Amino acid sequence: MSQSLDLLENAADSLNEALRRVRDATHENPRPYKFAVLHFTHAIELLFKHHVAQAHPLLIYRNPFSKNLSKESTIGLWDAVQFFKNEQRELTEETIEDLKWIKDLRNNIEHYKFEMDPRAARLAIGRLIRALNEFHEENDFTDLETLIEADCRGTYEKLADEYEQRLFEAQRSAELAKGNDERQTCFSCGSPKTMVRSGNKLKCHFCNDEIPLHECVRCTERYPEVLMRVWNDDKGPAHTDWMCDFCYDHIFDHD
Ligand SMILES: [Zn+2]
Ligand SMILES: [Zn+2]
Repeated sequence: MSQSLDLLENAADSLNEALRRVRDATHENPRPYKFAVLHFTHAIELLFKHHVAQAHPLLIYRNPFSKNLSKESTIGLWDAVQFFKNEQRELTEETIEDLKWIKDLRNNIEHYKFEMDPRAARLAIGRLIRALNEFHEENDFTDLETLIEADCRGTYEKLADEYEQRLFEAQRSAELAKGNDERQTCFSCGSPKTMVRSGNKLKCHFCNDEIPLHECVRCTERYPEVLMRVWNDDKGPAHTDWMCDFCYDHIFDHD
């Protein structure tokens, strides 16, 4: 039994290390993602082995009947997945695909021939954490959350919650697209720091809504359409004049 607990403890260490690397990586320095993928894949393998060892500690050996167990090799990730399947504990098709993807990435990293899209890696880690949480809950396995150390909690929560992760990804993407402009709160969905100027529009990287910018006929500042009123459209739609709310209020205050 103690071997099984060792596996769980090591899985927790690897999981926390993976989260730290995700936390430390930036757009300018994506290198930590490489280690995030290595640690994360290792964490899943240990976690799955631990679950198999819970059924019986000897089951982590390829040949549990061996006369010399210390020389026996132990099972791998796919053996564990098949074991769960044989126990009618099935991972979803999408989760299996994500596992294959991240295992391939891990193997490529180990052979120094990888090209990694950090965003794709982050999304896959997020999807896997959520899938594992569901799988663990359905099967009364250890709650992953209890393995997370204090300094990793923020990163874990960002990845474990689909909305939080989508918001985080949208803010990153807006950050990359913003140029010299500031990121704004979206006028449509209200998400913070997801809206940036794109040509003569504002675009939200979370809800994808676009809001046209117009020049105010009075003060000539450019404002998003939602903060303006049609001032004079009697020349037809091709010649709509817009006035910003500030100028509009100003005129009415002085009438
Ligand atoms: Zn939005
Ligand atoms: Zn104005």
